[in-house]
Amino acid sequence: MFDALRERLEGVFAKLKSRGKLSESDVDSALREVRRGLLEADVDYKVVKTLVEAIKTRAVGKDVLESITPGQQVTAIVYEELSELMGTEPAPLVISPRPPSVYLMVGLQGGGKTTTTVKIAKKLSSGHKPLVVACDLRRPAAVEQLRILAEQSKIGFFGPAAGESDVLSVVRGAVRFASERLHDVILLDTAGRLHADEELMEELAAMKRQLPPTEVLLVVDAMTGQEAVKVASAFHEKLSLTGVVLSKLDGDARGGAALAIRQVTGVPVKLAGVGEGTDALEVFDSRRMAQRIMG
Ligand code: GDP
Repeated sequence: MFDALRERLEGVFAKLKSRGKLSESDVDSALREVRRGLLEADVDYKVVKTLVEAIKTRAVGKDVLESITPGQQVTAIVYEELSELMGTEPAPLVISPRPPSVYLMVGLQGGGKTTTTVKIAKKLSSGHKPLVVACDLRRPAAVEQLRILAEQSKIGFFGPAAGESDVLSVVRGAVRFASERLHDVILLDTAGRLHADEELMEELAAMKRQLPPTEVLLVVDAMTGQEAVKVASAFHEKLSLTGVVLSKLDGDARGGAALAIRQVTGVPVKLAGVGEGTDALEVFDSRRMAQRIMG
């Protein structure tokens, strides 16, 4: 665990004459390494500052134990603080006690929203009867993509009629369709745009008012780093998100976005996308993410 960081910190402490208790200057030297590691992992600098302060408060004055090195001690504190910041308990998807549960899936184009919608439906299909609904009326290709993925995964699909221009009417149709066919979870794959513009936000807010949804889940691409944090803040401000899905964690993103999204918005990262396939979805694990962030 945290081998790279521990080695770096042990290198720092070896140069210091730590005796008795960890002094402020011992800890400051070590925290320079921690700060560098976090910034390399693309963690927002304000988050880094808060985190480093918290670690410092806990580490200064700690007795230097004989059994473990100061490097190990500080590494353990860093690890705990990082995983706590992201939430140590997994945050499961909420299933409404009164069916149907409705999940409003939101996000920018290309972030992985359509794929994730099917991934979640597939996960839920043992025990539930999910329905995925195409709500992007401007992009027929997006509707087609969802239809094909749903068919491949044997998931129920509902799409707009040809020429439909009112997304709220699609939602009403989907709810009726779901109730006739006993679908107990409805996942709405909303419109994706290149930017979180006013028009998109208004459309999503109107859908939210009409339903209201059990979950509002934002899908963001982990590879976009700090941009993902900005996107999460913008969507949260308008829609009060209930959870985030971090996609493309199978890539080489260090995952700093996970840390900052939770810290900046307070919204839990619930799930992680780990591949293009419709089974590549995992429960978000803050301890594993802490490990990935610090290397
Ligand atoms: P949308 O525009 O937000 O609906 O995004 P899509 O679901 O169409 O995904 C955009 C691209 O990202 C597609 O090529 C997906 O296969 C890919 N993708 C989605 N999630 C993941 C993931 O977790 N890992 C990887 N490697 N690719 C993903």
